[in-house]
Amino acid sequence: MRLVLVGPPGAGKGTQAQFIASHLSIPKISTGDIFRANVSGGTPLGKLAKEYMDRGDLVPDEVTVAMVRDRLSEDDAQEGFLLDGFPRNVPQAEVLKKMLDEFGTALDLVLELVVDDDEVVRRLAGRRTCRSCGKVWHELFDPPTQPGVCDACGGELFQRDDDREETIRHRLEVYQEQTAPLVAFYADEGILVGVDATGPVEEVTQRAMAVLRRFAD
Ligand SMILES: [Zn+2]
Repeated sequence: MRLVLVGPPGAGKGTQAQFIASHLSIPKISTGDIFRANVSGGTPLGKLAKEYMDRGDLVPDEVTVAMVRDRLSEDDAQEGFLLDGFPRNVPQAEVLKKMLDEFGTALDLVLELVVDDDEVVRRLAGRRTCRSCGKVWHELFDPPTQPGVCDACGGELFQRDDDREETIRHRLEVYQEQTAPLVAFYADEGILVGVDATGPVEEVTQRAMAVLRRFAD
């Protein structure tokens, strides 16, 4: 099965990608992993990407696309894959479509993890990080015995800037702006399915697998 997974920050996308790929026995292909592999492996594309990253610039689409093409050409991706983090926009989705077409194949399904903004805020804004050992607690889901104090080391807990409500809401807005056209593109292609991503991780995986089985038949 050839899949793309999309979802907002805080939807647990990385974790779901891992579980779903392992259930389906297909490789999980994330752009983060591809970047790291190319950079640490010192491939020509990795060197090129690193030049941009060292300057603090965004890696251009062509470089990302070339890395994805290389990765999708590998043996383990011939029977299927789950893409996480690519495509990020409609032009990339069009390139991917053409690429797969050249390979004589196509995407089967695009799975969208659906969580409402308030739920994302609830999940992320409750996170508290230990200044001393870095352990992450959660005010609601994994609270320390004494508020503000790390159970593991007695260190002081604080809220990272990334976990502040304003920051989270801003990231969600950026995500919506970028992703709404992508989701619409795949809806037009008739391969988009939404999965409710609220609730425990295992339940979300089960829901996703139920959807995928329905489409596999
Ligand atoms: Zn600690």
